[in-house]
Amino acid sequence: MSTHGPAPHPPPNGSRRRAVCFAALLAVLAAWPARTARAWSDTGHDLITEEAVQRLPQPLRSLFADPPSLNRLKAASIAADGRTDAQSPHYSPAEKPRHFFDIDAVADEPPPFATFPRDRAEAERQFGAETFEKTGTAPWAAGEALDRLVDALRDGRTGEVFAAAGDLAHYATDLHMPLHTTKNWDGQLTGNHGIHKALEVGLVNRRLDACRAEVQSDRRVVHYLADPTDHLFDWLIAAHARVEPILEADTAARQATRYNPAQHPEDLDQVDSAQARPYYKALAEELAKRGSPEAAALREASAHLADLLYTAWVRAGKPVTLQAAAQAADAEPTPPYWLIALAVGLLLLLVWPRRRPARRGGDASGPTE
Ligand SMILES: [Zn+2]
Repeated sequence: MSTHGPAPHPPPNGSRRRAVCFAALLAVLAAWPARTARAWSDTGHDLITEEAVQRLPQPLRSLFADPPSLNRLKAASIAADGRTDAQSPHYSPAEKPRHFFDIDAVADEPPPFATFPRDRAEAERQFGAETFEKTGTAPWAAGEALDRLVDALRDGRTGEVFAAAGDLAHYATDLHMPLHTTKNWDGQLTGNHGIHKALEVGLVNRRLDACRAEVQSDRRVVHYLADPTDHLFDWLIAAHARVEPILEADTAARQATRYNPAQHPEDLDQVDSAQARPYYKALAEELAKRGSPEAAALREASAHLADLLYTAWVRAGKPVTLQAAAQAADAEPTPPYWLIALAVGLLLLLVWPRRRPARRGGDASGPTE
């Protein structure tokens, strides 16, 4: 959930390189607290993924519900955030836009964006593909992950089943987060700067039990989705309608407590922080007055993720088990130890016979002194 950000700056010219390097170093150092906070964003993904699996019908649920499988799926559901981290070995520059879709930055019309093209090719034809590199691609990324999951389930590629299901869980969950659907993604356009992490990290962190209860409430049977991309856009637009009440609640909480979360990133993880307590209490109360839009987003993300997983499973022909043989075939790649051992053996065979006669000759001649 924590990857949203402004468009990258143009590359520096040569004369400013040293200053930029220094600034980059400072930026890396400054990023440490934010990275620590990401674990709490992961908590939100964990909650949603775990509950989505509980909502699945049998025998689909049994594919993911045992503790090792559930842990594997939860780890896969946060892997996408890791790919946005420039320090990570899994970093991919193409990853970032998949986590959001700022529909108000690109649509020519007000909500509910009734005529906005949901087909990617048509949208790119109208607005240009490069536009979506800046404004995001979350619903399409979720749709692509669903297609990958269908193929992997059908082919019995267990490793890819978890990777694709994890990506599907991540992108589908991110687009339910209201602040992942707007150009005002951190409240920076309305005096609410800092609300993004305050909501998805600070508040979730402080209301973990309430969030869990909310996610687990109102369980219903899962639905097959004939057109998943269409539903993903519907959910995104519903999430966008929650931006306004969230900003209103934040404004009221700031005014009542004289606390600005943007100035206290250290409080996101510090649930015992006395200076932050009044603000987060007020924020929760103000949100509750407005129908708890953040809780509805969590609950619906979980229900909809269950629908998506069920839809992929039905499309794949309802496999009953994940194939053990396939699991071994596409397991995590390991270093080719046997090849290294073989090469070392061959090398020894080449070297050993030449050295041994020489030593024997030395031995035969006996000590020279
Ligand atoms: Zn994300």
